[in-house]
Amino acid sequence: MFCNQCEQTARGTGCVERGVCGKDEDVQSLQEILLYGLKGMCSYAHHARRLGMVDEEVDAFVEEALFATVTNVNFDMESLFELVLECGHKNLRVMEMLDEGHVKRYGTPSPATVYEGTKAGPGILVTGHDMVDLEDLLEQTRGTGINVYTHGEMLPAHMYPELRKHPHLVGHYGGAWQKQKKEFAQFNGAVLGTTNCVLIPRDEYKDRLFTTRVTAVPGGRRLANGDFSEVIECAKRCRPLVDEKVRESTIGFHHSVLLGLAGSIVAAVKAGTVKHFFLIGGCDGAEPGRNYFSEFARLTPRDSLILTLGCGKYRIREHDYGSIEIAGVGPVPRLLDMGQCNNAYGAIQVAVALSKAFACGVNDLPLTIVLSWFEQKAVAVLLTLLALDVRGIRIGPAAPAFISPNVFKILQDKYDLKLTTAGDPLKDLNASYALSA
Ligand code: SF4
Ligand code: SF4
Repeated sequence: MFCNQCEQTARGTGCVERGVCGKDEDVQSLQEILLYGLKGMCSYAHHARRLGMVDEEVDAFVEEALFATVTNVNFDMESLFELVLECGHKNLRVMEMLDEGHVKRYGTPSPATVYEGTKAGPGILVTGHDMVDLEDLLEQTRGTGINVYTHGEMLPAHMYPELRKHPHLVGHYGGAWQKQKKEFAQFNGAVLGTTNCVLIPRDEYKDRLFTTRVTAVPGGRRLANGDFSEVIECAKRCRPLVDEKVRESTIGFHHSVLLGLAGSIVAAVKAGTVKHFFLIGGCDGAEPGRNYFSEFARLTPRDSLILTLGCGKYRIREHDYGSIEIAGVGPVPRLLDMGQCNNAYGAIQVAVALSKAFACGVNDLPLTIVLSWFEQKAVAVLLTLLALDVRGIRIGPAAPAFISPNVFKILQDKYDLKLTTAGDPLKDLNASYALSA
């Protein structure tokens, strides 16, 4: 453990084995899980608030939960565990608000084919998660001749009719966040970072990088008030981009789309056309071991559907998974991109709808969840799944360092939480099939 939050911290540097206050590593672990879950939840809540969606009960919970982590307030594993699970429940509410806010403002999503690459003319690349920033930028660039592109987690913007109606939202450029130093250097235009995951820029592009509100990096220019004239001026100064198509992709399998197909999908399961569902997604990252997820997805059988979300999708979408012919619908791609990481809410809705259709619990569905985690939003999503008593989730590529061995054992015993077995996705895949058979 490591804690240095109060004056009496050991040697004036930090308590490492046991707190001077008496806190042990398991209590510290639960407090950290709670803190990191709150950070993730508050990131989503911030986006939801910008769409006009707030919930007083969520705000009150944040105060209560933070209070429980103050020195000499709570040394009790049981009540801290309750708070950790409540954080998961509240995060479900926050993801629901965010989803509702997006749909109310930008319309009901539908699948869309997205041009990936660049088009001739000046351009602005928008990365992060904040659709309101993208909307403001699209309004402010209207009629300027500047093309706007999504990057990373902004790709799902193309599924919303009120965003894609702008003809100068021309496409998508690049992949997950960890490639941005290379991709931003290559993109010859202005870059707007709306949230995480933004990296400290290289010299080659730092004078073209702008960030919004709390997002800020050395060398970049932080814009606090939604006025993007400096970004627009920068784009005009840059040498125009050229026509360079990389690919086209189909995105936009929001849960409303999948629930619209629910009857046909249920019939396909009953007929044996679809035998298993995989949810493979979350965060991507640069560490070794993340090829586990691409390998796992590649090994999934042809009679299964793969739901994905978050920037973890970039890890698995290079492979051609083909499609499944579903009666009454036609060919449905096996890999279904549901959206941003917060669209985990939608994946939960789909799982609940399937469990109702089959009159069973979510844990009895032929469903395997494999989560790639990186930062605190993924922690909040994991807490939500645990709060809903979803069992058998596999997370990786590494165990969260802030979960102590004892707390991990509790999670294993209670929720059958598993780590990905580095280097052996086939073993994990077979195990998940055996469990659901
Ligand atoms: S709260 Fe406890 S564990 Fe943390 S620094 Fe203070 S004495 Fe140490
Ligand atoms: S899914 Fe996670 S890692 Fe990926 S961009 Fe979003 S916050 Fe960052």
